[in-house]
Amino acid sequence: MFKIGCHLSSAGGYLAIGQTAKSIGANVFQFFTRNPRGGAAKPIDPQDVAAFNAFAAENSIGPILAHAPYTLNAAAAVESIRAFAHATMKDDLQRLEATPGALYNFHPGSHVGQGTEKGIELITGLLNDILSPAQSTTVLLETMAGKGSEVGGSFEELAQIISRTEVDAKLGVCLDTCHIWDGGYDIASNLDKVLEDFDDIIGLKRLKAIHLNDSMNPLAAHKDRHAQIGKGKIGLDALAAVVNHPLLRTLPFYLETPCDLDGYRAEIALLKSVRN
Ligand code: FE
Ligand code: FE
Ligand code: ZN
Repeated sequence: MFKIGCHLSSAGGYLAIGQTAKSIGANVFQFFTRNPRGGAAKPIDPQDVAAFNAFAAENSIGPILAHAPYTLNAAAAVESIRAFAHATMKDDLQRLEATPGALYNFHPGSHVGQGTEKGIELITGLLNDILSPAQSTTVLLETMAGKGSEVGGSFEELAQIISRTEVDAKLGVCLDTCHIWDGGYDIASNLDKVLEDFDDIIGLKRLKAIHLNDSMNPLAAHKDRHAQIGKGKIGLDALAAVVNHPLLRTLPFYLETPCDLDGYRAEIALLKSVRN
């Protein structure tokens, strides 16, 4: 089954977001666990989440992908920012137990001048503090574009984080096509080689989700500006090859393109039309 969907607003609660997904032809979706700029999460309404779980089962919707706030930075230099990262991820994972089998994506972090090695040490510290073998959610490190002091702009950095995490059974990677393109991985002319490298360095068994985005910028720009599918520098043919690739096609794909609902509906239809 082609698992395709997009980022949706969670303002109306779980059932509403599931219904919206279905209405635009999506069978997966991503949402923010709370305001992406930080702050407290809305309490979960047990009735709403139960109704959503039934709706999702009925309509084969899932896995759902929760995105951590952008302000979550375990690699920060300031202690209170690191403490926010720990508290937020812990709370998010607790809440996600209401929707078993979910994915939780986060940006590994920015080392803000402390150096990549220190950044990796702090991010690993977060994961070792939080991950538990009992949780049902799989936590995903997002591949980053490598802008500023971002950690996770190369497969090697992600591999180091994973290898230094003790409880790693529930740890995976979300590959963002715009980010790795901007990071210098040429998925347009050499997708097979990029996947070979991913497998050698991280291991394809860690790959659990794809953020499917075109990029406004050329290869290796280290910018991170998403474009609509087929309207950027990666192009429709290359993104069609991503959704059809034998090593990727069973993964869930989540669009994070600059689109309104109608735009997402059209992109999902377009991708279904190129899926073979
Ligand atoms: Fe992200
Ligand atoms: Fe992304
Ligand atoms: Zn991005």
